[in-house]
Amino acid sequence: MAVKHVDRILEILTAEYPDAGTMLVFGSTFELLVAVVLSAQSTDVQVNRVTAELFQKYKTPEDFAALNLSKLEELIKGVGLNKSKAKNIRAMAEKLIKEYNGQVPADFNELLKLPGVGRKTANVMLAVGFNQPGLGVDTHVHRVANRLGLVDSKNADKTEKELKAIIPQNLWSKSHNLFIWHGRRVCKARKPLCQECVLEELCPKNIER
Ligand code: SF4
Repeated sequence: MAVKHVDRILEILTAEYPDAGTMLVFGSTFELLVAVVLSAQSTDVQVNRVTAELFQKYKTPEDFAALNLSKLEELIKGVGLNKSKAKNIRAMAEKLIKEYNGQVPADFNELLKLPGVGRKTANVMLAVGFNQPGLGVDTHVHRVANRLGLVDSKNADKTEKELKAIIPQNLWSKSHNLFIWHGRRVCKARKPLCQECVLEELCPKNIER
């Protein structure tokens, strides 16, 4: 049942959000990696505002490894958690230089070894940076998938596993974007707009109270 159901849901969401995709602005896979790390608990708009200036001067792992930590904290203070993100970005840049010849690896398990990179970031890097199958689960994907009854999960890792089991690989990246767009616009965390929702008839509305 779930597979058929998910097909229909993705069809409807694709029609609703034909332009769904990442809104992060980047010029290389390394810049994308920095932007995705910065995007945790922040919005793409905030990240783009910060990186528009940041990437003018600092573009490569070498540039970031050479940056003074407090200077980097200052440069990214427009996003939340700037201290821990600055620390991770610096350590990430150093590791890329030392162990990956300054290149971002196009491999899920290698990406996970980088400081500040979790499963969501690694999935997004594969999908957006390397055009490979990846289905990152952030708070929107997790919430929307549970409410729609596509998964029954209390954590992002389980949601990722369950979604990957019912969505064909070639649709992983697209599904990630569609669920995020729907979660931001309609299936909002606090007050989902069920009456305006294109999925209303299909949705069991498993809404946590
Ligand atoms: S019907 Fe409500 S709970 Fe279901 S996807 Fe739409 S907004 Fe979310």
